Amino acid sequence: MKIAVIGAGIIGVTTAYELSRDGHEVTVLERCGAAAEEASFANAGIVAPGMPSREISRFFSHRHPIRLSLPISAHELVWFWKWHRARRLDRNRAQRQSLASYSRERLHRITADLKLDYERSEGVLMLLRSEHDSKMMQAGLQLLREAGQDFKELSALDTRKLEPALSPDTPFFGAIQLIDAEVANCRQFALLLKNESQRRGVKFAFNTEVAHISSAGGVTLTVAGETSAHPYDAIVICAGANSARLLGALGIKMALAAVHGYSISAPIREPLNAPRSGIIDRRHQVAITRLGNRVRVSGLAELGGAPGQNRADALQTLYRVLHDWFPGAAKLSSGVQEWKGACPMLPDGAPLVGASGVPGLWLNLGHGASGWALSCGSARALADLMAGKAPEMDLNGLGIERLAR
Ligand SMILES: Cc1cc2nc3c(=O)[nH]c(=O)nc-3n(C[C@H](O)[C@H](O)[C@H](O)COP(=O)(O)OP(=O)(O)OC[C@H]3O[C@@H](n4cnc5c(N)ncnc54)[C@H](O)[C@@H]3O)c2cc1C
Repeated sequence: MKIAVIGAGIIGVTTAYELSRDGHEVTVLERCGAAAEEASFANAGIVAPGMPSREISRFFSHRHPIRLSLPISAHELVWFWKWHRARRLDRNRAQRQSLASYSRERLHRITADLKLDYERSEGVLMLLRSEHDSKMMQAGLQLLREAGQDFKELSALDTRKLEPALSPDTPFFGAIQLIDAEVANCRQFALLLKNESQRRGVKFAFNTEVAHISSAGGVTLTVAGETSAHPYDAIVICAGANSARLLGALGIKMALAAVHGYSISAPIREPLNAPRSGIIDRRHQVAITRLGNRVRVSGLAELGGAPGQNRADALQTLYRVLHDWFPGAAKLSSGVQEWKGACPMLPDGAPLVGASGVPGLWLNLGHGASGWALSCGSARALADLMAGKAPEMDLNGLGIERLAR
């Protein structure tokens, strides 16, 4: 088939790769000048099987994980209300968890098959500042057991053996070691897989914004600044937070919001003072990860706010948590990258992977705070569906039909 993929974030790149493996003629259209320039640019990089990063924070937090910022639109307020309701019901958890496990397997298979070399480290520790923090997470531990996640409860002493650079000045109770979790550089992987896909014949049209999609007489798309429509056998929407706008014109309505998160990345000053892999500060919902010769601190989930404007308190929290755990690890005087990214998210937190209901139009979007962890599995499962095959994992409950509920 002749297929257009809209968007070259981690979801679009993995989708294009899997479709090209199946022998399709694939073109990726991306409005930015390169792949992984938006939400996939500087995320924490945590890949946790059985428990995507959203689940980790969600089950271990007693705090409200999403903060509201002004200005906030009516659409965002409605989304927030729906999200709050869905959070209590927590449908599709089993599917999200099995997609996360399948995705990690797929990530490893692609890495081995293509011999991809990108920044990676094994293991993630959830740090508990106090005994109270530990008590608060017992229900979360039960969910980890049910998800089949391999973990260990560690004392502070044992935690320090795994992460010897943890500051001696910040007391803490212990940690949960998420044994199969890992940290890996999402953007690097996306760029490498884009190159491999190009070698397989996938065309990437950068600086190319899709203005409009039509379904009259087969699926077509029109590029901004052009008048003629380009026909395809199939179009896959992987346009992140912008997907709802493209679909709205076809009468497909969905409550997709851009939930923003922040990260700072800084060069490592002294490797002995830096984390070996990833830690998550449970109380502050902040991840500190090692990516090659940089340390990245990420966190916060913000709905609303002026585009392009960073919350100063969000960035300050990241610097403070870094200082608490790894003071002196990073060079903060210059070369620090402060970043705000928009996670495309549906109120129930699950991605949309599958048919759209419009013949020839397919969806792979809305992966929220776990897009990297879910990308390789979502892409393979969608390619199987498009080929008329049953995916290797159960996608029931992750399709568009659930939005009618
Ligand atoms: C601070 C932070 C930390 C995170 N940490 C983690 C983590 O540890 N683990 C994890 O799994 N996930 C994490 N995430 C989430 C993850 O980064 C996202 O879920 C993922 O990047 C979403 O990928 P995407 O391809 O859907 O979106 P994007 O990367 O935004 O890609 C969509 C692409 O579509 C393009 N596009 C949009 N409209 C058009 C159009 N009309 N025409 C052409 N192109 C278009 C955009 O330019 C963009 O490049 C984090 C996110 C943030 C913000």
